[in-house]
Amino acid sequence: ERLVGASADHEEQAVEAALRPKDLGEFIGQEKVREQLDLVLRAARARGATADHVLLSGAPGLGKTTLSMIIAAEMEAPIRITSGPAIQHAGDLAAILSSLQEGEVLFLDEIHRMSRPAEEMLYMAMEDFRVDVIVGKGPGATAIPLELPPFTLVGATTRAGLLPPPLRDRFGFTAHMEFYEPAELERVIHRSANLLDVEIDPAGAAEIAGRSRGTPRIANRLLRRVRDYAQVKADGFVTREIAGTALAVYEVDSRGLDRLDRGVLEALIKLFGGGPVGLSTLAVAVGEERETVEEVAEPFLVREGLLARTPRGRVATPAAWAHFGLTPPRPSTG
Ligand code: ATP
Repeated sequence: ERLVGASADHEEQAVEAALRPKDLGEFIGQEKVREQLDLVLRAARARGATADHVLLSGAPGLGKTTLSMIIAAEMEAPIRITSGPAIQHAGDLAAILSSLQEGEVLFLDEIHRMSRPAEEMLYMAMEDFRVDVIVGKGPGATAIPLELPPFTLVGATTRAGLLPPPLRDRFGFTAHMEFYEPAELERVIHRSANLLDVEIDPAGAAEIAGRSRGTPRIANRLLRRVRDYAQVKADGFVTREIAGTALAVYEVDSRGLDRLDRGVLEALIKLFGGGPVGLSTLAVAVGEERETVEEVAEPFLVREGLLARTPRGRVATPAAWAHFGLTPPRPSTG
């Protein structure tokens, strides 16, 4: 796994649990989402009702799971966590729905990856708090209606556009989570350092924040690696210099690019004069699969304005040249 990858395995999720903000007040950044969600939850509480269904969209590691837990905590409700890919059959979903308690929050991660029949069952459950359980097969099959207690569905997806409109429309509140500003990530890092008992100065936190690709999960992960280094080499105290040296050891550079990212840009610049060059050729030059270059490296490089996808191929932008201390050649005339 990449140190700057945005998703987490089970082991990391366990470590992360200790760093999760517990309520909206502790949740850093995402001001608009926080303000709107606060209103939705307060209003529901005041009515003594279950909160509307909430759809959270945004890249991995931006805090969707954390927010769903906060929603449950703010509503003083239990939470059940599952994911689209875990629900293969409508029956799997029926079993979960029929065991929910009144007011419970059901967090459905990667909701866009649910099977079609489960999705259709969910429509009815969200709208009418009812499911039809099909008993038997063929012509003798019968639908037995089952009442559900009111619950709050919190769906998470990388892009709301991936959801079929009928599903999207059944959410009372939709929030899009943006990448975090460096100053917000600094606050995340200070907060986590505090919880992990790591001493860090503001410049140290800024150094880590700048390399965290706008993502709290990556910020927390880099902090843990820097902490290890500081423990071994610097009495545990994290300064700008210690953070920079530690992350250089892990090959995460000043903008958060790792070896793969830099390999792609360097090949583009040094072998192909900055491009344009086709994806397949570029992938061969880097010694990676096409998919790895396209799906793992490029999204962040494009987002950072370091690489452009043009109809004629991949191009390194002037910012990419500058990142390596190079000047792009003047465009030829004629
Ligand atoms: P995935 O899509 O991979 O499930 P996610 O969007 O659900 O990711 P979380 O698991 O909620 O992300 O967050 C990842 C880590 O980042 C957690 O340790 C969490 O504590 C931390 N984190 C996320 N958002 C914030 C925030 N706004 N303030 C402080 N910490 C945060």
